[in-house]
Amino acid sequence: MKLCRFQPLEIASEGLSRQPHEVRPEPRAGIIEDGAVWEIPGDIWQIHDRTGYKWPLEGVRFLPPCAPSKIVCVGRNYLDHAKELGNDAPKEPLIFLKPPSSVIAPDEPIVLPAMSNRVDYEGEIAVVIGRRCSHLRANENVQPYLAGFTCLNDVTARDLQRIDDQWTRAKGFDTFCPFGPVVETELDLGAATVETFVNGVRKQSGRATEMIFPVDVIIRWISQVMTLEPGDVVATGTPAGIGALAPGDVVEVSVSGIGTLRNPVVGFGD
Ligand code: ZN
Repeated sequence: MKLCRFQPLEIASEGLSRQPHEVRPEPRAGIIEDGAVWEIPGDIWQIHDRTGYKWPLEGVRFLPPCAPSKIVCVGRNYLDHAKELGNDAPKEPLIFLKPPSSVIAPDEPIVLPAMSNRVDYEGEIAVVIGRRCSHLRANENVQPYLAGFTCLNDVTARDLQRIDDQWTRAKGFDTFCPFGPVVETELDLGAATVETFVNGVRKQSGRATEMIFPVDVIIRWISQVMTLEPGDVVATGTPAGIGALAPGDVVEVSVSGIGTLRNPVVGFGD
């Protein structure tokens, strides 16, 4: 099942059970089915009762699927990517945070900061937490705690990452965390691939099975450090092939079985 948050572009909706004037274009959650977005009450990890309102896909603007209290990222989780930056495979998961203020929606522009001369894309498969968890037991099934999976671009100021011991600045600029457009509740991680395209040219391609630390290990491990809340996002690392973005580029992160996250790139002050 594909879940999203969206904003209707117009008031109009089919299947109304109330009067059209009651349907305001404010953000809401939905299920995507049969080429339409069906409104559901509350957040995407709550009960999926439909309200009776639906919109055609082209009649909505997709928002980030949730509002995370934190975005936890795993660094160097694909061996070829660790090597391309001159690093060894980590002995245990290497985690860092992106601030909630870095989140943007699909189609919203990534802004290249004035402070950096080298901003890279990092296409990743991301996990959305659906139920609070902490101190999960070794081998505990993580599935009940997951809302699903989405596409995420862990945008990185590579030059600042190299000179800073802490990556807060390099990873934390406004607009550096596009994710979405939908959350797939039943992704087959055994078959999932993540690809990144810049201006239509494929730059990255990886398989979830290539992760050094698989999703269940990551979630259990992070839960030893911090409580994960519904709506929190865990980015699982990027495969090899990272590269720079320039103003005017369009970057797309595609995860098979989920969809494509697309964002234009603009310079600071453009
Ligand atoms: Zn990353």
